[in-house]
Amino acid sequence: MKNPYDNEERKTFHEMVSKFMETEIWPHVDAWDEKGSYPQEINEKVCQLGVFGFGIEEQYGGLGFDDQFMRKASSFEMGRSSAGGLFASIGSRSIMLKPLVELANEEIKSRSLPELLSGRKGGALGITEPGGGSDVARIKTTARKEGHEWVLNGQKMFITGGIQASFFVVGARTGGEGLGGISLFFVDADTPGFKRTPIDKKMGWWTSDTAVLYFDECKIPESNLMGEKDKGFYAIMDNFNYERYMMGAQMLGMSQRCFEECVSYAKERNTFGKALIEHQVIRHKLADMSAKIDAMDAYLNQVAQLMNNGEKPVAEISKIKFYCSECLESIASEAMQILGGAGYLRGNPVERIYREVKVMAIGGGSKEIMKDLTVKQMGL
Ligand SMILES: Cc1cc2nc3c(=O)[nH]c(=O)nc-3n(C[C@H](O)[C@H](O)[C@H](O)COP(=O)(O)OP(=O)(O)OC[C@H]3O[C@@H](n4cnc5c(N)ncnc54)[C@H](O)[C@@H]3O)c2cc1C
Repeated sequence: MKNPYDNEERKTFHEMVSKFMETEIWPHVDAWDEKGSYPQEINEKVCQLGVFGFGIEEQYGGLGFDDQFMRKASSFEMGRSSAGGLFASIGSRSIMLKPLVELANEEIKSRSLPELLSGRKGGALGITEPGGGSDVARIKTTARKEGHEWVLNGQKMFITGGIQASFFVVGARTGGEGLGGISLFFVDADTPGFKRTPIDKKMGWWTSDTAVLYFDECKIPESNLMGEKDKGFYAIMDNFNYERYMMGAQMLGMSQRCFEECVSYAKERNTFGKALIEHQVIRHKLADMSAKIDAMDAYLNQVAQLMNNGEKPVAEISKIKFYCSECLESIASEAMQILGGAGYLRGNPVERIYREVKVMAIGGGSKEIMKDLTVKQMGL
């Protein structure tokens, strides 16, 4: 559907990202996914597109400007590539950049941001723990002050990009119980007392490295506290807004790819003497899918414009996160149905997207939690 907010600059950016994906990523997705890894130079190639540099000053390797429509375009194309695991892994830097830029000290920013934004080094965000992810206010990992150091103890679970990452932003308890006792810390991967192990055998995102992080008397300088002590919860929540918006755009891209794949299959496949696409039941499925895609797209555009105007529509971002995941669940399922038995074979984008739907409905805030947050933000 036509985007009324589109302009030449945004179109050019979108086309540049789309062309890169179709030539450099699409041909390799199946092989990388089966292998469970990808060539490391891809980190740098993707970062060179500038897709992680929005809202970050040029002196740190950022773009020096922000635009939610361009953010949306890059996430859309990451989703449309069907390389969910690849972009989870490369994109893990993007979910730790906002707190890093806004809260870390100058020394940390000037040594980590250029490395992260160039793709030479990776970054990850550690919030979720083995005891739970939804209830962030109950984080159990602790940080105690000893002289000029913080000493971290605890574990983090499901950390995307956590095996490759050189830099981590980690939430830990510095105060009493509840949301008022949490702080954010910058941790270098080579700090003594820090360890990580891979989590293998995931349902999807095979290309991505997911880790358990362990902090055992892990000592970091006192200046690695990011922002104010005990105020980390609010920074975590603020950061989630961007992650959730981008996940919405990614889910739109995944939906679009499912649509494209099943349209092209339905044009080629013949059943009962005519092309599959000529059967009314199939045509209705395509109409339903397309309507959902338009609705997601329009919702994302409207919220992009609000955010470009400086607003932070938290309720709408939460709605986008769960609404897009529900649309994607239905679209991926119908696309699989149209592909019939062929869809059930590994090595096609629809099958992969179908397996990766669930992580989009759980990670970055599950749909139940998004619905709770929505009604709360609506004052109900
Ligand atoms: C592949 C993958 C990658 C991830 N990457 C990262 C990462 O990089 N960094 C990071 O910090 N985390 C990461 N996560 C963790 C993710 O954010 C959490 O899985 C998510 O927040 C849910 O937490 P949980 O799994 O502990 O589920 P729980 O919090 O235990 O919840 C279990 C289920 O119960 C539901 N539920 C919980 N409370 C309520 C309630 N009050 N009412 C109704 N339903 C409720 C939830 O919605 C969920 O469906 C990742 C997860 C996965 C699977």
